[in-house]
Amino acid sequence: MAGNFETEVLHSAHKKTQGIKSKVTPIYQTSAFTFNDLDELEGFYQGEGNYLYSRVGNPNTDELGQSVAALEQAEDGVAASSGLAAILAGVLAVAKNGDHIVAADDVYGGSFHLLKAELERFGIETSFVSFSELSNVEAAIKENTRLLYTESITNPLLRVEKLEEVIGLAKNSNLVVLIDNTFATPLHVRPYTLGADLVVHSATKYICGHSDVTSGVVVGRKDLISEARARIVNLGANLSPFEAWLTCRGLKTLALRIKAQSENARLLADSLRGNKDVAKVYYPFEKGEKGYGAIVTIELAEHVDTDLFFKSLGWVKIVPTLAGVETTVSHPLKTSHRALPTEAQAELGITYGLVRISVGIEHGNDIVKQFEAALTAASK
Ligand SMILES: *Cc1c(COP(=O)(O)O)cnc(C)c1O
Repeated sequence: MAGNFETEVLHSAHKKTQGIKSKVTPIYQTSAFTFNDLDELEGFYQGEGNYLYSRVGNPNTDELGQSVAALEQAEDGVAASSGLAAILAGVLAVAKNGDHIVAADDVYGGSFHLLKAELERFGIETSFVSFSELSNVEAAIKENTRLLYTESITNPLLRVEKLEEVIGLAKNSNLVVLIDNTFATPLHVRPYTLGADLVVHSATKYICGHSDVTSGVVVGRKDLISEARARIVNLGANLSPFEAWLTCRGLKTLALRIKAQSENARLLADSLRGNKDVAKVYYPFEKGEKGYGAIVTIELAEHVDTDLFFKSLGWVKIVPTLAGVETTVSHPLKTSHRALPTEAQAELGITYGLVRISVGIEHGNDIVKQFEAALTAASK
């Protein structure tokens, strides 16, 4: 290329990537894409599948949306900048000003705030009710209800949602149903195959699995995902190419991680169930010998000093999130459920001695030993 230094420095370094067959998807770390001519540009608008601008679409974010859609056996999927952004896109794919949502009263704290503090300001009202009894849900449905919203396994008490019943009620009432499948992952349950319309993931958690990315995905019916995608584009809630690439990299080991983590969780839950220093163990024991999810929540016995327990955990770190490959603990009362009114905390069973354990891929016996040691150290 003939040009002066100022021109050369920009244009000589650009490598044409077409036709280079890399083993893994390259990172398309670009805000926009180029076109050979105006026909090719027109092709974008005719839906020929090429890319224009990364907020509108990018190969890395598409790879993530489509991979999770495939695992959930859903028609289509789209990635977003966080789990909450994916939930926002899913909800706004269905609800508009004047509409009403019925949500479970034990949904993730951030989702509660999104629905309560933000969407109500835009005229979308949500009733939060206990989904333990379906009659509560039915009673909360109004003329303008459009959406039922719950989680396949809840946080931190690990209530397993009766998905068939909730989905059945939604169908009978002509409502869309959205399931947050973050805790269960598609290895354990695929709500779309049971009839859910939309399934969301905080990919920050198990989909990525390495605690180094914030990202989200919403998958489901093609028509609804097309609406969700429009919300993400117009609200600017798109995921960056690099974060999408990292999430896809983590996703490749999802099966290995979840199997190992669920087995370790089951082992730990079984051992803690018989421990005199533990008053209560929350785990879906009935769902399988090899475990069902990798979160175990315990209530420490009254004679155990909670502060001392948290100080005695050795290599197990205190982290207010979950789902990484390392075993970590969190304290729901003082973190995720901090903002709830005291009565609601008590009613849900979120006490000072409640500990949420996110079980990792270490050797199961080492995990059990570490918790036994902390319990012994903290027993008065
Ligand atoms: C973390 C989490 C979210 C929110 O996801 P972010 O990636 O933090 O925005 C939503 N639902 C559940 C169940 C979660 O655990």
